[in-house]
Amino acid sequence: MFKALLVNKTDDAGYHCKLSELDEAQLPASGDVTVRVEWSTINYKDGLAITGKAPVVRSFPLVPGIDFAGVVTASDHPKWKAGDRVVLNGFGVGESHWGGLSQMARVKGDWLVALPDALSAREAMAIGTAGYTAMLCVMALQRHWDAAGVKPGSGEVLVTGAGGGVGGVAIALLAAMGHTVVASTGRLEESDYLKGLGATEVMDRAGLSAAGKPLQKERWIGVVDSVGSHTLANACASTRYGGAVAACGLAQGMDFPSSVAPFILRGVTLYGIDSVMAPLEKRQAAWQRLATDLDRGKLGAITKEVGLAEALTAAPDILAGKVRGRLVVNVNS
Ligand code: NDP
Repeated sequence: MFKALLVNKTDDAGYHCKLSELDEAQLPASGDVTVRVEWSTINYKDGLAITGKAPVVRSFPLVPGIDFAGVVTASDHPKWKAGDRVVLNGFGVGESHWGGLSQMARVKGDWLVALPDALSAREAMAIGTAGYTAMLCVMALQRHWDAAGVKPGSGEVLVTGAGGGVGGVAIALLAAMGHTVVASTGRLEESDYLKGLGATEVMDRAGLSAAGKPLQKERWIGVVDSVGSHTLANACASTRYGGAVAACGLAQGMDFPSSVAPFILRGVTLYGIDSVMAPLEKRQAAWQRLATDLDRGKLGAITKEVGLAEALTAAPDILAGKVRGRLVVNVNS
């Protein structure tokens, strides 16, 4: 038997999620690798799955949790054997396939990435899907800058949703590369925290979150945006000639009320970043770089630890934008 959160929808109880005791025989038969989960996290999408605020859960009952790190206990997949340390992000896990907010998981071996030796399972989940997505954003920007001959320090990089998980890791990564990072947040009281991660300036997100002009004063050589909506439109409108924006999120909204002006008049490039179905080579590259490039000393400031039961109460908080950085879940407490 093992413990897990279980989302269900029934006629009498409606949509609900509770801490449950499950049998290993209940794990999905479609998986070919069984993993003893050590750590998981609460991402924005997990908040949606636990609360039911958006229809991310595709089948019931379902264990939520879009990511986990742990150790293989049994495998019918040629790549994995008992004892291997693994990390998983996305692939519909925690949405259509039982996920990581659990002490056990059974998943497809093709979805797993070997945990780099330098990272503990806890560190991997302190980074989590948010941090891995931040790395994918930074890698897209870096490819763009390398091709254009743009050097770190030659201009400012904007990170929106800075107080959140993607934002915090993006700031730390960009600062470690030598970039001048401006953090946009609705929580100016967290300025010391954001500067501690490496931001040189903190700006009020109100300056980006309302409708703005299609072209604005050129400021950013690059942007990591986890917010969407007017924020993304304003970020594009104020990106410098030839600069790039990596868009990965929708914390403000899914809409994109922009114009083509930044793209056709300033040659701005908008990169769409998806972590869920990203190919294996990109995942492996991102995790290897997280293991080497991220100042793990900063993970302590970014991370708060909770147990499985507390994950239930933390879910509405992440949707309300009240969580600073990352929530790492000790599935054994
Ligand atoms: P968090 O909830 O940790 O952070 C989101 C941050 O956005 C908040 O902390 C807040 O930052 C800001 N924010 C919240 N509401 C608003 C609003 N109404 N207007 C402007 N800013 C707002 O989430 P994550 O960092 O984990 O994820 C961020 C986004 O990225 C989510 O939309 C998530 O779904 C998406 N995502 C996408 C992935 C992909 O594969 N494309 C993978 C992972 C995440 P502050 O208080 O500092 O303003």
